Amino acid sequence: MDKYLYDKEVTCPVCNMKFSTKKPRIRKIPVEKKDPDFHIWYKELNPVFYNVWVCPNCGLSVTESEHKPLTAEQKSLILKHVSVKWNKRDFGSERTWEHAVETHKLAIFMGQLLGKPNGYLGGLSLRLGWLYREANSTQEDTYLQHALDYFEKAYAEETFPIAGLDEVSLSYLVGELKRSTGKPKEAIFWYNKALEHPDIKNKRLIQLKARDQWQLAKDDYNKQKEGAEHA
Ligand SMILES: [Zn+2]
Repeated sequence: MDKYLYDKEVTCPVCNMKFSTKKPRIRKIPVEKKDPDFHIWYKELNPVFYNVWVCPNCGLSVTESEHKPLTAEQKSLILKHVSVKWNKRDFGSERTWEHAVETHKLAIFMGQLLGKPNGYLGGLSLRLGWLYREANSTQEDTYLQHALDYFEKAYAEETFPIAGLDEVSLSYLVGELKRSTGKPKEAIFWYNKALEHPDIKNKRLIQLKARDQWQLAKDDYNKQKEGAEHA
């Protein structure tokens, strides 16, 4: 696995301890297939496993983008609600699926504690949903629904990029999450938002995908309506 992972030394912004975490060389990992909600099935190694950096000493668990200085108030929240009960363990070696789930749950808990943006929490929830998809678990739907709730709030209240996505991509993704969680009418609304956005012309792949998925949502919606009429 060494060809896909390397060690990165980082310093914890809460306790100042230096620790090592594995980083994936994402571009080198062969791709098997892609799902319509941006999830990628990789061969050999899943880079999502290494998304969350965990300090082995105090327990701070955040992604690379949020691994930055914290306010005194935020530090004391971590010390009070995480570090005192932290069962010291190191996630700096190769990770299993179980490690990936655990570290994402830690990061969601700490993101909520620290008042991180909804877009950030949505990104973590989406990845946790993907992890459960890879394990063929019904928990997938729970976390996709959480992701959807966070992204809708983020869309209304936060500035782009949100979870690394521009407005066209996020509108499309919200549409896709609405469709996959059984809300085709709302999905159509969000696909339309993406398709009618002036920047869609620069996003050819999203445009094509949004049209295909719009049609699937439309078919689902017609079936739902027929079902309701015959009920
Ligand atoms: Zn620490």
